[in-house]
Amino acid sequence: MEKRFIYADNAATTAVSERVLKAMLPYFTEQYGNPSSIYKLGRDAQRAVEDSREKVAAALGCTPPEIYFTSCGTESDNWAIRSTALRLGEKGKKHIITTNVEHHAVLHTCEYLAKQGFEITYLPVDSEGLVTAEQVADAIREDTALVTIMYANNEIGTVMPIAEIGKVCREKGVLFHTDAVQAVGNVPIDVKAQNIDMLSLSGHKIHAQKGIGALYVRKGVPLPNLTFGGGQERGKRPGTENVPAIVGLGEAITAACEDIPGKTERVTRLRNKIIDGVLEIEGSRLNGNREKRLPGNINISFLGVEGESLLLLLDTKGICASSGSACTSGSLDPSHVLLALGLPHEVAHGSMRLSISAELTDDDADYIIAAVKQVVERLRNMSPMWEDIISGKEHTEKLLKFVSEIKSKS
Ligand SMILES: *Cc1c(COP(=O)(O)O)cnc(C)c1O
Repeated sequence: MEKRFIYADNAATTAVSERVLKAMLPYFTEQYGNPSSIYKLGRDAQRAVEDSREKVAAALGCTPPEIYFTSCGTESDNWAIRSTALRLGEKGKKHIITTNVEHHAVLHTCEYLAKQGFEITYLPVDSEGLVTAEQVADAIREDTALVTIMYANNEIGTVMPIAEIGKVCREKGVLFHTDAVQAVGNVPIDVKAQNIDMLSLSGHKIHAQKGIGALYVRKGVPLPNLTFGGGQERGKRPGTENVPAIVGLGEAITAACEDIPGKTERVTRLRNKIIDGVLEIEGSRLNGNREKRLPGNINISFLGVEGESLLLLLDTKGICASSGSACTSGSLDPSHVLLALGLPHEVAHGSMRLSISAELTDDDADYIIAAVKQVVERLRNMSPMWEDIISGKEHTEKLLKFVSEIKSKS
């Protein structure tokens, strides 16, 4: 098979699309005014920022003044969580509810707040990575300041029951924030209908550039500043606006939301083709829920395979894949998300995430399936662990139980 180059790590970041780049370009060398300046060059930049705000608002079903531009998804998460904690903590509300599969932008923020005297409830997910609205309802207390639950998981693609959780939070009068960085542009979002109070998003996951994000804050929800300075973003998020990036984000979110049903159908078909093809490999398992899943996400574990080696060999075949979150790869700790599903360490270590874009073709999918099959076979031929697993010699009890589960499924 002729070697291809296939970028299948769109959950880590995406290429800036031609359409987005084209929209941005004038704002570097022609329309470079400062949006705060009084003359036309500045006013034009201001108009571009406001146009983009309207586009982001339209994509989420809110009004433009409810959108604040930030530097990234991480900043949006920090702002929503820390500022709410600061404000409500002073009123004695020092309890936060989240899950054990959040992105580190949320988990590490919660860990920081725990050191500041907050109590954090980490709702455990089920074996497919889901929490329920009932779990949230049961965890809410008098002193709960905030519920923060991701819309869709970056590693296993699981889409949480956000509307149900939003309803529970609204009924109980507790603020609800969602990290929707992976969901925006991939699933239809309506912050009003879904009772979402705050929502984080990021540009570089939807074909805009790195270093631009936004936070939706429902009108009437007070959110103290994280940083102080000039009057930009109505004084809430000061600093001269990154006009080209903001313009790019508006264009990217518009493009991503133009035909979500059509895109979902096309991408889901290819995703399922890859999942079915790869699962033909003996001793493999799909992580996450098959249906409640982002269209482009594939996450599969292989018994007796070491994940890093798998990724390196796929790279030699021109395939960019990931073992989980880009932030933790390089470290030897297995993914906290896969461990939260109940996977033994050994299995979590042998995992691969592919996140495909709408550009992927059927031929690409065939190439991926064939390459993964070859690479897994090659690694197993080199590994004594695989021999031990199939001959039943492998030691830990949890792994043995898991192996028999996987075997009984196939
Ligand atoms: C990528 C990602 C983030 C961080 O966004 P940045 O813009 O890279 O800071 C946060 N949450 C999730 C779920 C992500 O996938």
